Amino acid sequence: MIPFNRAPVVGNEQGFIQQAIESRKLCGDGPFAKKAEEQLKQLTGCQKVLLTPSCTAALEMAALLLNLQAGDEVIMPSYTFVSTANAFALRGAKIVFVDVKADTMNIDPECIAAAITPQTKAIVPVHYAGVACDMGTIMGLAEKHNLFVVEDAAQAIDSFYKGKPLGTIGHLGTFSFHETKNITSGGEGGALLINDVAMFQRAEIIREKGTNRNQFFRGSVDKYSWVDIGSSYLPSEIQAAYLYGQLLELKTINDNRRASCELYRHQLTQLADDGLIELPHIPDFATNNGHMFYLKCKNLEERTALISALREAEIGAVFHYVPLHSAKAGLQFGRFYGEDIITTAHSERLLRLPLFYGIEVAEVLSVVSAVKGFYA
Ligand SMILES: *Cc1c(COP(=O)(O)O)cnc(C)c1O
Repeated sequence: MIPFNRAPVVGNEQGFIQQAIESRKLCGDGPFAKKAEEQLKQLTGCQKVLLTPSCTAALEMAALLLNLQAGDEVIMPSYTFVSTANAFALRGAKIVFVDVKADTMNIDPECIAAAITPQTKAIVPVHYAGVACDMGTIMGLAEKHNLFVVEDAAQAIDSFYKGKPLGTIGHLGTFSFHETKNITSGGEGGALLINDVAMFQRAEIIREKGTNRNQFFRGSVDKYSWVDIGSSYLPSEIQAAYLYGQLLELKTINDNRRASCELYRHQLTQLADDGLIELPHIPDFATNNGHMFYLKCKNLEERTALISALREAEIGAVFHYVPLHSAKAGLQFGRFYGEDIITTAHSERLLRLPLFYGIEVAEVLSVVSAVKGFYA
């Protein structure tokens, strides 16, 4: 059996977790959390990084930081994970879904421009497969219309737009450390990158249940109290210990994932040249962090047949997002602006192949031969 995913393990996690246990101090913002945040700051150049229990939690913090009011509009792709939308729907915002570009499945800036109204407060680009959205154009639109930008960089750690780390270009950025992402904090985890200095202090407060406890610990206030709304958005020291171990090996993990992507691409190029499948495109302004390898079949019917054929061969290939605008909750909290030219049609054709840290060359080649067998 070749599974779709295996949670990454690099070997140092157990030692760090043991150390955390022996310290008899396990709550959030402990020594491993500080070390992990330091690593993330060095990696991204962002001055304020806060670990969170998930990317979902980081997106919720972002929505709180934007002070959204009922009726405010937030523009995002329909082709994304539910949390991208839920975080803002929870604040009463109206979700405005727009179309993606066929070559990357990333939000189409022209569709964003058309969807902006006086009620628009934010744009949430999602860097699908870890490949950058057209951030230059998106930031230009945001500046012109005075909008916030929250980058959903859940899949995009250690990936870049024109040399700038993803997650550091918008006002806020979010990472996921779920076990299906490039690195994990023991199964679930995330981080919020705060690039707008004006939000530093409030982000700490919202994360600490609406209290100014962080300022108290730093000695800048003499007691702490309830000062704002908030929630508990701190992961435990055990999660931070796992994450720290993974961060130390991030380059090794991503090099390995990228090599597997390149092998897939090399092996499947002939099928693409023959017009049987399409392969992902990396724009000149973007990099690949090896998060995902997908192909596009001719249509839904062919994809369903290919998934079955791969399952017969004990290979776990999976489809991805079902467009949010056509889902029950999507209809309730949002609407699609413009014409759905790419989103539905292309999401039905997209198939993700097994990819994880340490997938063996022989495993990739087995997947390739099963795909080639299907098209033969
Ligand atoms: C994985 C993912 C999330 C959610 O991440 P969690 O850490 O599981 O909450 C959000 N957005 C995108 C684009 C994702 O891929």
